[in-house]
Amino acid sequence: MWSISVMAVFGTDIERAAQLLSEGELVAIPTETVYGLAGNALNEDAILEIFKVKKRPKFDPLIAHTDSLDKVKSYVTHIPEQAMKLADVFWPGPLTILLEKQKHLPDLLTSGLPTVAIRMPHHRLTQELLKMLDFPLAAPSANPFGYVSPTTAQHVQDQLGDKIPYILDGGPCSIGIESTIIGFNEESKPVIYRLGGKKVEDIERVVGKVKLKIIHSSDPMAPGMLKTHYAPSKRIVIGKLDMLIKRFQNRKLGVISFHDTFDEIPPENQLVLSPSKDLDEAARHLFGALRTMDQKNIDLILTERFPDQGIGQAINDRLKRAASR
Ligand code: AMP
Ligand code: MG
Repeated sequence: MWSISVMAVFGTDIERAAQLLSEGELVAIPTETVYGLAGNALNEDAILEIFKVKKRPKFDPLIAHTDSLDKVKSYVTHIPEQAMKLADVFWPGPLTILLEKQKHLPDLLTSGLPTVAIRMPHHRLTQELLKMLDFPLAAPSANPFGYVSPTTAQHVQDQLGDKIPYILDGGPCSIGIESTIIGFNEESKPVIYRLGGKKVEDIERVVGKVKLKIIHSSDPMAPGMLKTHYAPSKRIVIGKLDMLIKRFQNRKLGVISFHDTFDEIPPENQLVLSPSKDLDEAARHLFGALRTMDQKNIDLILTERFPDQGIGQAINDRLKRAASR
């Protein structure tokens, strides 16, 4: 007997995507951050299927995506004033807000936590899709748990294509790094739990100084924040590139740099994230570069620390996690 694995169909047919999602199936969706593996966030079977397809542990809560504040109000008990300000300014956009959930949201969605992570994505196709649905979409990144997130429909196809029926193709992601996650502590002060596509400086302009509680150790309550995450299978070393290239001169090296090139390394094994030194462009190209390097005939990926400002903070966070084993 031949075993044929059926690959997902690519397309821009939102009616078809809506139909599949309404039937409890999973569909990959484009967002400005990364591609999501979406399912009905109110349907426990669909949520279970997301965990299964991603091989994601069930203690890692999912983000619910929707398209209007009215819908958000039907999922949460209340929206604190500061959260409302953030939503007004940054939604739709790459900011996820933790809010107290209403009882009818499945505990499976939030891993039993009293809060739900909510975001309005900024992507035309996905917004149109959400508008057609009377439920929010749980949509973690569409990759196997722990691996680099997908920023094109092809990335999704490469890893999950045989496990889902449809990939909504919205082109390459315009930001290319996951959302920033913000919540509020016991004193109702804003706390950033994950660095991401919305810059800390922009957030502080709206709500004042925020605390950063970025967890770099293994913490079962926050696996998206696990020390090792967003990791390709090849080893990554971060440092001063010219020195690393000397130190590892006997190895087959791949280099991911911000803007420089190196004569000692074959051009095909170098990826420059932004020749014009633009951090946003570098972020957009980061995950694709890690995937490309992972497939090359090299034994080590070298990269560097980026300027720690704007989205550079999130780039450094992802590289650090990709490099830690
Ligand atoms: P992902 O959907 O893969 O981008 O990851 C979502 C991440 O959001 C999880 O890994 C958690 O770290 C975080 N998260 C989601 N819901 C909550 C919540 N209720 N409280 C704290 N963190 C959350
Ligand atoms: Mg993820």
